[in-house]
Amino acid sequence: MKDIEIAQQSKMEPIVEVAKRAGLTASEIEQYGDYKAKIKLPLASRPKTKEKLVLVTAINPTPAGEGKSTVTVGLGDALSLLGKKVMLALREPSLGPVMGVKGGATGGGYSQVVPMEDINLHFTGDMHALTTANNTLAALIDNHIYQGNKLNIDSRRVIWKRVLDINDRALRQVIIGLGGPLQGVPRQDGFDITVASELMAVLCLSADLADLKRRIGNIVIGYTVDRQPVTVDQLGVTGAIAALLKDAIKPNLVQTLAHTPAIIHGGPFANIAHGCNSVLATKTALSLADYTLTEAGFGADLGAEKFLDIKTRVLGKTPDTIVIVATARALKMNGGVAKSDLENENVEAVKRGYVNLQRHIQNMQSYNVPVVVAINKFASDTVAELQAIQDLATQDGVAAIVADVWAQGGQGALDLARKVLETTEEVRAFHELYAADDDLEVKIDKIVKKIYHGAGVEYSAKAKRQIQTFKKEGWDKLPVCMAKTQYSFSDDAKSLGAPEGFTVHVRELVPKLGSQFIVALTGNILTMPGLPKVPAADNIEVADDGTISGLF
Ligand code: ADP
Repeated sequence: MKDIEIAQQSKMEPIVEVAKRAGLTASEIEQYGDYKAKIKLPLASRPKTKEKLVLVTAINPTPAGEGKSTVTVGLGDALSLLGKKVMLALREPSLGPVMGVKGGATGGGYSQVVPMEDINLHFTGDMHALTTANNTLAALIDNHIYQGNKLNIDSRRVIWKRVLDINDRALRQVIIGLGGPLQGVPRQDGFDITVASELMAVLCLSADLADLKRRIGNIVIGYTVDRQPVTVDQLGVTGAIAALLKDAIKPNLVQTLAHTPAIIHGGPFANIAHGCNSVLATKTALSLADYTLTEAGFGADLGAEKFLDIKTRVLGKTPDTIVIVATARALKMNGGVAKSDLENENVEAVKRGYVNLQRHIQNMQSYNVPVVVAINKFASDTVAELQAIQDLATQDGVAAIVADVWAQGGQGALDLARKVLETTEEVRAFHELYAADDDLEVKIDKIVKKIYHGAGVEYSAKAKRQIQTFKKEGWDKLPVCMAKTQYSFSDDAKSLGAPEGFTVHVRELVPKLGSQFIVALTGNILTMPGLPKVPAADNIEVADDGTISGLF
């Protein structure tokens, strides 16, 4: 049965009931229909005995699929079955992948969050609010330039781009303001996808509405003719932009197929943005449940690194366990097997591909957090393949446990859940990868050498000039958000397994003073993806009665 059919056949609980079980009163939520709600802020604090945080991450993604969300949901349901008070804190899907390559992002099989169509399409409107707020700011910048340009903004140095939450390569580079003096001031501009926007990161890192306003005010939108940074506060429109996000900042409550409460809020991509759901969502889950399960996007070299080096600094809490999701199929691909041959048993290829998982294990251990491997079981996996992964992980001192959550839901992850309960009790001191006051180049060097295992970094002439500017402005002590392909440890998408000795090419740096990090664009990574030859949209349909099919 297809994911969407399983989801549509499930019987959801009214969201008030889910909220009640999560410890929320009816007056603490705002209902968006029967099965979705926003949680009102600020939430009154609750007495707590336990506050465990589990981060779910994965090996490098391959077209074979890894299933982080699926495992996170299944693990959450398994902890519920074991009688634990658990809450999920996941990211909101972007329409880019929903219409593009991947399809939905609400888990799969019997481990899903519902209502899956709503969550994957417009949900509670947060993406639209972000897109509108972003483009309102863009319009206000161009209007400022048109109406006399009091701030002396250099129209060639505006860095605030317009956004759209869909893959649209035709909009990467555009010329705006054409058509004569009444149509604005012509300049070159471009679109990013909404989930790569600074406002998305700002929403996800804000502690509350006051912090959101402060961060928006600090955003640098470009430079003056004499190269001074211009902020949103200087434009005087901070209030308007924040007003557009006043509801989007509230976490969204839904449920899994087994009715475990799940917060789904904020969805930056992990390759071109910081890849984690909102701090407010994670904090809310931590304050309500004993066990909070959250995920970070793509492989552990991207999402988890950013979770550990960027998000935890704001969250004020580090994970008590990191679960790394791996599949026999993806390891086979890392071991050189073509996608068309994945159904055939190939234990040797699994063993060859294990180097990818091994490096992620070692990387996560370097933060001194307990690591558990979840082997997401596919129907075609053989006993020998699964055993090979378990044996190799055991040799590396890590438990690798098969999770059959896609087929069995929470029942398929009881062993994994028991192991996680055990490891979260370990008391350990978190090891930072880099210190907050390390220089920008030192931070990038540490990420490249210690997480990617590259030989070094090469900066373009532009990036070198930018580093000088950032030093002058005092921005060179901010954390770094690497923008890198998700497919490889290196900046070359085709280099699978565990490559070494490569150089990472930093072509441009983007100051994000609202999110409080510097984005480093590496290789040829793009902040506006394109649609594939056969987009997922080709299969999506809506029947006359409103039933959706083909979402996955
Ligand atoms: P990720 O979070 O790593 O991007 P998802 O959990 O969203 O991955 O899963 C991606 C797709 O793979 C989903 O459509 C899901 O149904 C499918 N999938 C995940 N795990 C399995 C599995 N064990 N067997 C079959 N399909 C799976």
